[in-house]
Amino acid sequence: MPEVERHKYDVVVIGAGGAGLRAAIEAREHGLSVAVVCKSLFGKAHTVMAEGGCAASMGNANEKDSWQTHFRDTMRGGKFLNSWRMAELHAQEAPDRVWELESWGALFDRLPDGRISQRNFGGHTYPRLAHVGDRTGLELIRTMQQRVVALQQEDFAETGDYEARLKVFQECTITDLVKDGDAISGAFGYWRESGRFVLFETPAVVLATGGIGKSYKVTSNSWEYTGDGHALALRAGAALINMEFLQFHPTGMVWPPSVKGILVTEGVRGDGGILKNSEGKRFMFDYIPPVFKGQYAETEEEADQWLRDNDSARRTPDLLPRDEVARAINEEVKAGRGTVHGGVFLDIASRLTPEEIVKRLPSMHHQFKELADVDITKEPMEVGPTCHYVMGGIEVDPDTGSAGVPGLFAAGECSGGMHGSNRLGGNSLSDLLVFGRRAGMGAATYVEQLDKRPEIAESDIDAAAKLALAPFDPPADGTAENPYTLHTDLQQTMNDLVGIIRKEHELKQAIERLAGLRERFDTVTVEGHRQFNPGWHLALDLRNMLVVSECVAQAALLRTESRGGHTRDDHPVMDPTWRNKLLVCKVDPDDVGQTVPAVAVTPQDQLPMRNDLLALFELTELEKYYTAADLVDHPASTE
Ligand code: FAD
Repeated sequence: MPEVERHKYDVVVIGAGGAGLRAAIEAREHGLSVAVVCKSLFGKAHTVMAEGGCAASMGNANEKDSWQTHFRDTMRGGKFLNSWRMAELHAQEAPDRVWELESWGALFDRLPDGRISQRNFGGHTYPRLAHVGDRTGLELIRTMQQRVVALQQEDFAETGDYEARLKVFQECTITDLVKDGDAISGAFGYWRESGRFVLFETPAVVLATGGIGKSYKVTSNSWEYTGDGHALALRAGAALINMEFLQFHPTGMVWPPSVKGILVTEGVRGDGGILKNSEGKRFMFDYIPPVFKGQYAETEEEADQWLRDNDSARRTPDLLPRDEVARAINEEVKAGRGTVHGGVFLDIASRLTPEEIVKRLPSMHHQFKELADVDITKEPMEVGPTCHYVMGGIEVDPDTGSAGVPGLFAAGECSGGMHGSNRLGGNSLSDLLVFGRRAGMGAATYVEQLDKRPEIAESDIDAAAKLALAPFDPPADGTAENPYTLHTDLQQTMNDLVGIIRKEHELKQAIERLAGLRERFDTVTVEGHRQFNPGWHLALDLRNMLVVSECVAQAALLRTESRGGHTRDDHPVMDPTWRNKLLVCKVDPDDVGQTVPAVAVTPQDQLPMRNDLLALFELTELEKYYTAADLVDHPASTE
């Protein structure tokens, strides 16, 4: 068997985005030794791409804001399918996490009085997003990397070694988790540059690997989003929930084809940008759904008044939650009122001065100028839905981030529950900070309580290495499958059949095609050597994308209603029988240990919301989501 480099840590964090870094900082602050492993360069995680901001009810822009209002907005955005405990912790702790970042050196944009500025975003009652122009994620990562360096300097002062307790392993991909009995004992992977294998012996792994967008053809996600953490957790025995809920962000670039899907931040609409169809009509007023009636402006005058003073009018429907806006754009294009390239117009040019646009949205200005030759200070952008975020992910304990397998923890986009059926913009960056910290703490506490470290069997390492090398072994019958062709076929299948609007017969067709792709995967073959071999890397990523796509398609077929990021053409409304049901994906018991195992999806009842949290809502609003029996303990109930 090939040589395997070995390292030993108390906690191994897989992923160096916002969630991973926050978890690593926390575990290191408990005095443990921590490795951070990431498959791209350190500092290049997806979090860096976050533009609009980080939601936290600090109340700087409107002092009426509170954690209760943030909680309510988050639950409404998720159509009440959220883990209410996660939504509660998130709303309560987000402001502290933002202030903590500030104390570590983050330079947020300011109000004239010096406090952190907060901007409007879809579904948030008040301006709530702390931001740095449209480059917020970059500042978040920069600050946490700076914090990592500060901790390493402390370690140097104490031990003479900067990396004594916190070390980053960049361009290193984890392909398998190793267990001792039921418990995690390590993580196995390879260096992307040399292809050499590496083993991390550890009792605790925090998965913070981000999303799954690269299974789709049109996406705002980068090459790293191949669902690795989702698949690693599944194969290790954990469950995934909410996988049918994918967020198609309403405003991706639609032109030119080479950049189709790249994100146009919701900050454009937060700062006054408006959506128009090819007839010049602000169409969002026609798409306010019954559950949000009364909460949004019904005329252009009222919407514009709200932008000037959000206490004196109702908010603009341009800022409805993302699922609603994406569906509305889809409808307009289908009805023949789209642009020539199949999108709609997003106009900021007629709303702000060129100087304001360049100051507030510098990246958007640059992006359109460079990529589409459009000057957004003079003309509108063409935009349309793009696969952006997965609400589904690893089922975790809200307080500790435990994934239900001893020693396995998860946080950030690869975890599920917090956002229910639809995430509000800005709630991911805050989620990373709140639950990254909690998962780091959960992992540290777990390790501190262990009386014995788990062991690793050599046979498990051999098996992981053999599996990773399989694509270099061409099948004897000459049916070699090209990983790029397989990937393209997977993306096309997911785009065409498990996209923004879903139908039973198409989902069944998708599941059939996925079975075919799984079979083809067995003969995936790559040329060349292990050094610098992107074809091989893709072959290994495909193993994850295939099983995760299966979860999405199976869950989408089972959920016979439309809710949040899951729209069924054949079941177009929310169905009360699904109101408290989660779909739980696990590896099919007959398929445990298979390279790309089949998945079993089963419904599971969600814990009913605590009464004090129910009481934060008007009974009339809750009645749109729950049955009378669910609400008997609400203070206003007359049942
Ligand atoms: P990431 O930041 O993606 O980090 C994942 C890490 O895991 C990376 O380091 C990667 O290398 C590593 N990794 C993955 N697989 C492996 C493996 N097998 N082995 C080793 N390492 C691995 N949210 C907001 O709240 N506000 C916004 O304004 C906003 N804007 C956005 C703009 C864009 C263009 C996009 C795409 C998303 C935006 N989001 C925004 C969403 C948000 O950025 C992401 O949900 C969030 O950054 C995910 O963070 P994470 O820490 O979970 O994962």
